Amino acid sequence: MREYYRSGATKEASWRKSQLKALLNLLEENQSEIFKALKQDLGKHHAEAYRDEIGMLIKSLNYALANLKQWMSAKKAKLPAIALLSTAEVIPEPLGLVLIFSSWNFPFGLSLEPLIGAVAAGNTVVLKPSELAPTCSSLLASTISTNLDNKAVKVIEGSSDMGTLLLQQRWDKIFFTGSEKVGRTVMSAAVKYLTPVVLELGGKSPAVVDSLQSSWDRQAAVKRLVVGKFGTCAGQACISVDYILVERKFLPTLVELLKATIWKMFGENPKKSNSIARIINKQHFLRLKNLIEDDPLVKASIVHGGSMDDDSLFIEPTILVDPPLEAQVMTDEIFGPLLPIITLEKIEDSIEFINSRPKALALYVFTKSKTLQNRLISETSSGSVTINDAVLQYAADSLPFGGVGESGFGRYHGKYSFETFSHEKAIARRSFLSDFWFRYPPWNHNKVQLFQAAYTYDYLGILLIILGLKWPNQSSRHHDALF
Ligand code: NAD
Repeated sequence: MREYYRSGATKEASWRKSQLKALLNLLEENQSEIFKALKQDLGKHHAEAYRDEIGMLIKSLNYALANLKQWMSAKKAKLPAIALLSTAEVIPEPLGLVLIFSSWNFPFGLSLEPLIGAVAAGNTVVLKPSELAPTCSSLLASTISTNLDNKAVKVIEGSSDMGTLLLQQRWDKIFFTGSEKVGRTVMSAAVKYLTPVVLELGGKSPAVVDSLQSSWDRQAAVKRLVVGKFGTCAGQACISVDYILVERKFLPTLVELLKATIWKMFGENPKKSNSIARIINKQHFLRLKNLIEDDPLVKASIVHGGSMDDDSLFIEPTILVDPPLEAQVMTDEIFGPLLPIITLEKIEDSIEFINSRPKALALYVFTKSKTLQNRLISETSSGSVTINDAVLQYAADSLPFGGVGESGFGRYHGKYSFETFSHEKAIARRSFLSDFWFRYPPWNHNKVQLFQAAYTYDYLGILLIILGLKWPNQSSRHHDALF
């Protein structure tokens, strides 16, 4: 793959376009297979599968195809006056051979979204999907090998052992989506070759819900919260609402609205609903079950739901009110359909609550108060802030998607994906025709003045000194001593 990269084939705009079109083709021709695989591995309804994976990817591919020429173009830059008679530009160049790790919750979305950026930027790519969504992983492998240029894009399937082997190789970038724990392993492995990494991790993304006044606003907010939690891979999403912060006096209204909305979206018996995904496997099912079963105080905090079915890996949308803050459900990322609500005296207390915990991947704020919106934006730190909605920010090609602090670093989507997989090479071009004499030794005080003037006022500064102006605030004695 390195040799193929060196041949220059992947740098051509025509190659990049052909691969993006091949990906479009892959999605369009294999739609029903993809729906089946997502149903098989995660119990996703095809509407959800289209909304979060196929449709989202088609949108991203069309956006990349429409903007590729502009992204690839050299961007003019300017050199300072001391580089007399010069031009400059920034040229994006591919990095080389890159490795993408993806996770199981959006097996197509989280594999192909970074792949779009990697091929658009002209790299050769190895993609390692998660073994926990095996049907999707094998469909990715077979469709990519038949649709894309095999010399440049390969899918390598396998478990963490395969991941370990891959990490021992030399890469020009590692783009990792997954857990914080494995993220640390990736970063340690990257040290060997000083490989740059992007870590798209998770964490606990809070939703601050203000006591909205009108019933229209309340219902809209709760619909968006419920779909952002239970209606997005059953809460197994890195940006799903992990917990809600609310004023104590608004709690009863909020709980009633949540219950009614869950009922409307998933019916009286959500286990029978085909609109809610299933837990990925037994291990994750037990992890979620234990979050509740292992702590009687957590169990006692359930105000809605709580039923589980081991055979179908189903967990009912479950609401908990004020579980202990030191319980695992409030310290670990939940990644499932459990929704704790934490009550506060005043909604402004949410700022301190958020700041006392690791930085989240996303923060959701439901309020019409501009003051509260602005305070949460400016006084807390998170990968993104979405006002009056949840999860939707992921769909934007124009917004960088990524974390901060323990939720990860690096970003992608749209132009940011292209930049993430490119090196922005600085090009400075000079002419032999002319030069400023003061750039060269022997040094004297006059040359210092010229540098100061040039760095502060560019050509104008140089002109002023040449015309006899003295540079202000200069202690000539100090300079005389120096020279
Ligand atoms: P994971 O870390 O277990 O696995 C991610 C990938 O790493 C998989 O391909 C897996 O095979 C591989 N892997 C696992 N152990 C490895 C090892 N020791 N060495 C090398 N490779 C190894 O994560 P997961 O369970 O697939 O995903 C869940 C986590 O991912 C959650 O924390 C979630 O928040 C996060 N996530 C983040 C995003 C995001 O975009 N920020 C998206 C989805 C999931």
